[in-house]
Amino acid sequence: MEISEIKAKLESYKAEGKKMFTTSSFQTHSLVMLHILSRIDNTIPVYFLNTGYHFPETVSFKDQVAEAFGLNVIETRSSVPRYMQKDHSGKLLFTSDPDHCCYINKTAPTEELLRTYDIWINGVRGDQSSTRKAMKTEQEAPFDTIRFHPMLDWSMKTIFAYIREHNLPRHPLDSKGYLSIGCEPCTRKLDPEMQEREARWFGLNKVECGLHTDLVKK
Ligand code: SF4
Repeated sequence: MEISEIKAKLESYKAEGKKMFTTSSFQTHSLVMLHILSRIDNTIPVYFLNTGYHFPETVSFKDQVAEAFGLNVIETRSSVPRYMQKDHSGKLLFTSDPDHCCYINKTAPTEELLRTYDIWINGVRGDQSSTRKAMKTEQEAPFDTIRFHPMLDWSMKTIFAYIREHNLPRHPLDSKGYLSIGCEPCTRKLDPEMQEREARWFGLNKVECGLHTDLVKK
């Protein structure tokens, strides 16, 4: 979507009295949507799903970006304490059941947000995975909400052109070989032959955390 179209859509949601929020993982490529939103309406809450497993660099980068863009960033966490996030053998869940770990730490806290808000502004891009490619710009989500995907037709190329044009900051791990950065135990550096999302849950049959598969009305 063009920036003028994103602006018009947000204004129409606002005029309809819809409550909006967004979520961000605060990676370099996530910043384009945040930057665009900050220039349209920087009061829209930006939720950071703090799993407790992020790289310390991500947490400090989030603070830096919030300050630079004037964002209303709110941290949210799972209601399940870490000591209860273990499997039957006592190991932390990400080691044996990453789907359940992602559910507890990402999907369930987002479900709570969907119970409160009407519109989830979400920065997925079609070129990131086949699941995302199949999405629509406006998509029904649980609890009578709408997912609004303004970046769906942006590509890695147009994202980085915007980053250069606006001189946006870079996540500190970019220069160390990371491209798709999530929780530390489930992220690895990208090899030249790998697709972007293969750097996550490497070696497992998993490329999504559940936010873009479970929280979509089928
Ligand atoms: S990405 Fe890994 S550590 Fe983070 S919530 Fe999912 S399984 Fe757990």
